[in-house]
Amino acid sequence: MATDPVVVIGAGPVGLCLALALAQQNVAVTLIEAMSDDNFLDQVPRAGSNHPTTLEFFDRIGLYQKLEPCGIVAPKFHYWDRQSNTRIAEFDHALLKDDTRFPYVLQCERIKIVEEALKMAKAHPLIAVRMATEFISFEQRSDAVLARATNASGEEETLRGSYLVSAEGARSIARKDLGLEFEGFTYPERTINIEVAYDFKQHGYTERNYISDPVEYSNLFHWKGPPDRWRVHFPTAIDDDEAALTRPEALQARLRNFLGIDRAFEICGCNLYTVHQRVAKKFRVGRVLLAGDTAHVNSPIGGMGLNSGVHDAFNLADKLARILRGETDESELDRYERQRRHVAVQHIQAQTIRNKRLLEERDPAVRARNHDELRRQAEDPAQARKFLLRTALFESLREAEQIL
Ligand SMILES: Cc1cc2nc3c(=O)[nH]c(=O)nc-3n(C[C@H](O)[C@H](O)[C@H](O)COP(=O)(O)OP(=O)(O)OC[C@H]3O[C@@H](n4cnc5c(N)ncnc54)[C@H](O)[C@@H]3O)c2cc1C
Repeated sequence: MATDPVVVIGAGPVGLCLALALAQQNVAVTLIEAMSDDNFLDQVPRAGSNHPTTLEFFDRIGLYQKLEPCGIVAPKFHYWDRQSNTRIAEFDHALLKDDTRFPYVLQCERIKIVEEALKMAKAHPLIAVRMATEFISFEQRSDAVLARATNASGEEETLRGSYLVSAEGARSIARKDLGLEFEGFTYPERTINIEVAYDFKQHGYTERNYISDPVEYSNLFHWKGPPDRWRVHFPTAIDDDEAALTRPEALQARLRNFLGIDRAFEICGCNLYTVHQRVAKKFRVGRVLLAGDTAHVNSPIGGMGLNSGVHDAFNLADKLARILRGETDESELDRYERQRRHVAVQHIQAQTIRNKRLLEERDPAVRARNHDELRRQAEDPAQARKFLLRTALFESLREAEQIL
């Protein structure tokens, strides 16, 4: 008897990687995406600082080669102190040359990742991509899952799958239908992201910079054009009005104030977003599994959301493929939950919360201590390598492997 395909909801980076990794192991997939071919590329570019661990996974499905030309290879990242306008520490992924074939981060936005991965999925004979199809609900049976969706013609249809993976993003319908709590909190303030065509390297910055300041911390990242651009994130006050924050003069003033220079900037765009730190209570209920932002969301400081979601996808793909080949039983799916939930709570949440605290710390004595610690770690190659193994998520993958 032929096995039903795995139904994957969402052609974000997580759903696409999962579909491609399953198909590579001869598992048929039905991939459902609410957006249509006409508007798919109109999405906000969003993340991507892609860590070496994630590049290894991309390479496994042949995606890395397609992304490298559209991204920036960034071996180094910096911590800066805005108060004194000095660099606190520089970390260089070259120290990981014996740990990985990719001793660098690839700065490549989410939109480029999904564009390339979607082309690959559409070309794969084992993946049926259903664009403009919106998942609405599901029903579990003992031997299958029935997913209901509204298709491109506006008709409701039922898609049968052996398993259903919700990679729908943070607002997952499946997670809500399962009644799973999304445990954690939401920061009251919002973050403003300004994209600007301006060469920040002339001020000593590298491709990725974390800038500590008790008044207005920020993150600064370089992205490949055209036009070549930089993205600067700033926190905003809780009651700041959106229209006032995003007015062109307000954006210009913020950038002038940040750099301490008087000039006009070429602003390419801006957006305001709310940051959540949340993890779903469970990642598996019967034949339904959660992955990526559906299962966990976090602040972008440290670039971990997309990365850890892609790690979920590969972990899950390997387990589902083995189950469907009859090599192991469904208890492996509980192991998926144990491993990846542990990473989400103990690594991703813990680290991103710590990263934000470090950048916004107000107590001068604590700030000085934190900066000294960063300096010490960066200056000692053994400590710096350990630091990078953690920030590049090697430590989380190795720790998860030990969880049975
Ligand atoms: C400003 C910003 C910067 C970030 N920077 C970083 C970074 O540097 N590094 C990093 O690792 N992470 C970063 N992140 C987080 C990162 O973007 C997300 O973690 C990542 O996109 C999650 O991928 P996903 O596939 O789980 O979900 P998504 O990317 O949200 O994709 C979900 C997909 O599901 C589709 N969908 C939703 N509902 C339905 C439905 N009912 N039916 C069918 N389809 C549906 C959506 O259309 C979408 O295509 C950042 C986020 C933001 C907002």
